[in-house]
Amino acid sequence: MEIDWFKIILIYWRYVVQSYDSKEFQLEFNYDQKDLGSTYTKEYTVFKVWAPTAEEMKIMLYEEGMGDNFTLSENMVQGDSGVWSIILQGDLNGTYYTYRVKIDGVEQEVVDPYAKAVGANGIRGMVIDLSTTNPKGWRETVKPSFHKSTDAIIYELHIRDLSADVSSGIQHKGKYLGLAETNTKNKKGLPTGLDHIKELGVTHVHLIPCYDYNSLDETMFLGISIDKATNELPYNWGYDPLNYNALEGSYATDPFHGEVRILEFKQMIQALHKKGIRVIMDMVYNHTAMTKDSNFNKLVPEYYYRTKDGEFTDGSACGNETASERFMMRKFIIDSVLYYATEYQIDGFRFDLMGLHDIETMNAIRNAVDQVDYSILLYGEGWTGGDSPLAEEERALKANVSKLIGVAAFSDDIRDSIKGSVFNKQEKGFVNGAINKKEMIKMGVTGAVKHKQLHKSISCWSPSPTQTINYVSAHDDLTLWDKLLSSVPNGTKEDLVQMNKLAAAIVMASQGIPFLQAGEEFLRSKPANVENTEYISNSYKSPDSVNSIKWNQKSENIKVFQYYRGLIAFRKAHSLLRMTTATELQQQLHFLPCWNKSVIAFELKDEKEHIVIIYNGNPNSKYVCIPNGDWTVYINSQQAGTEPIAKFKGRLVQTDPISCLVLVRELNDCL
Ligand code: CA
Repeated sequence: MEIDWFKIILIYWRYVVQSYDSKEFQLEFNYDQKDLGSTYTKEYTVFKVWAPTAEEMKIMLYEEGMGDNFTLSENMVQGDSGVWSIILQGDLNGTYYTYRVKIDGVEQEVVDPYAKAVGANGIRGMVIDLSTTNPKGWRETVKPSFHKSTDAIIYELHIRDLSADVSSGIQHKGKYLGLAETNTKNKKGLPTGLDHIKELGVTHVHLIPCYDYNSLDETMFLGISIDKATNELPYNWGYDPLNYNALEGSYATDPFHGEVRILEFKQMIQALHKKGIRVIMDMVYNHTAMTKDSNFNKLVPEYYYRTKDGEFTDGSACGNETASERFMMRKFIIDSVLYYATEYQIDGFRFDLMGLHDIETMNAIRNAVDQVDYSILLYGEGWTGGDSPLAEEERALKANVSKLIGVAAFSDDIRDSIKGSVFNKQEKGFVNGAINKKEMIKMGVTGAVKHKQLHKSISCWSPSPTQTINYVSAHDDLTLWDKLLSSVPNGTKEDLVQMNKLAAAIVMASQGIPFLQAGEEFLRSKPANVENTEYISNSYKSPDSVNSIKWNQKSENIKVFQYYRGLIAFRKAHSLLRMTTATELQQQLHFLPCWNKSVIAFELKDEKEHIVIIYNGNPNSKYVCIPNGDWTVYINSQQAGTEPIAKFKGRLVQTDPISCLVLVRELNDCL
């Protein structure tokens, strides 16, 4: 009788060692090849799935992505490292498939975690000939040039929010294709959608989840234009991952045919790249929508998740947390990121609850993407959603950013010190009346990088401006405008607009990478009622009427939009705002003496130019002492941009109430 060593090892592991983290298990079962999932050729397709503890594995083929149309089932064979495989002859492009896995005598059907295409609701994978999913000119479309991460200006967007409202003038409402449309206008004829994003001047669009998520019934979205069913179709942000390597179907014109969402997503990326805008995906590898019944867990029970005393732990506050420190989970994340970076030409990745990923995994991702494109941006939330068994020193937390290489973290410090805490809607920040935020704003100015002029009590966490994301609003929590309305209930619109503009100026003139929520640039709001007395902070499943961008507000608040556009243009025109090292920052950034608790002034200086930036959070005008010289004003309370607004000569400059003042002088002439 032939001895089945594989089975013996498995039995030994299962009954004696009983740990996925044991050396024995890792030596025997860690699999490092790049061929998991389905590998298509015209003549045959190879299927491979990792499931070391399975007793049997079958492949199941179907004609469609759902329904009673099963065609074939075949036994797969287990080979090295616990990988089951089968080769099926013929051209299987468009064939739907699942695996039927048997563990401890129980059979369950699962979707291949590596599935690149899926049918409606992601309940079956699909074999795909990816070469047929490229839009015309795909291979010829070059990525917009991009040199260093602090050149980025990131615009955070939900696909559906962009186009769902009738005021968008966009035809493909709520769809990937809606973001690919050009020449779209609001009621007053101002650009909307993609043209608007281009007009604003941002460099990157950051899309909140577009991978296949679980919460929406995609069958409701066939060919439907969102405006015809406003408030009838369910809505979700999508932070509940189902199939990481396949795309969400509700944003496709046809969720039933797996290839359609791929083609339309690529058309959208192509349209953005053609406009000179790069694309970032928001990836939620830290947890899955389902726990016990997820594809991961049905294939290899408890392997992909952290557990404690036999229970799934919940560091995400969403029911589970993945175990990035385990070899095959880490490999899955790296493979998935590389797949999007290569097949879809994605230019950056945002990691949800990055603090749940271990530092080694994040650095391994950086290392892997650098082989493809070193200009890919990587950043994430440097916190967790709850307690985790992963040791604090191993977590990719904000406090551990110095252990990360080429990975940035969001600065909740600048966010909350500008406008007040996100956890208390009444709390104020620097722009809306708090007088105790000065030192924290100064830390924001340095991008949370250590600086000799910062107060001793301030703990800086970033080793370099390239590792800090500065922002004042994102999809989570109140929009900036709603936070101002809530924290200054008796303020006039004029006052609040000044606060908003100062907030934007602080983000745009700080060292680091600026980030804004779509619509912030014209006072986006999510009112909870028609009286506009309450605002929704967690609108993850609120209807389109709450979430969608209302494009006529662009006309109503055109001056705010122009101010944002001017701030962006100014940032792009002055490299002193985009330093990349702590050393540069120590040499070229100096705070100017100023005793008022709500005034901050600093200068940036290199051999070419000298910039003075002043933030006045007071409701009245202030005088600030600046270096003597012939100055040109480019930003004040009313305007921002690259065109001179006024000249100033002397030392004592006056700022308007609640405003930013920026003066520049060229140094070439002085040499
Ligand atoms: Ca879905």
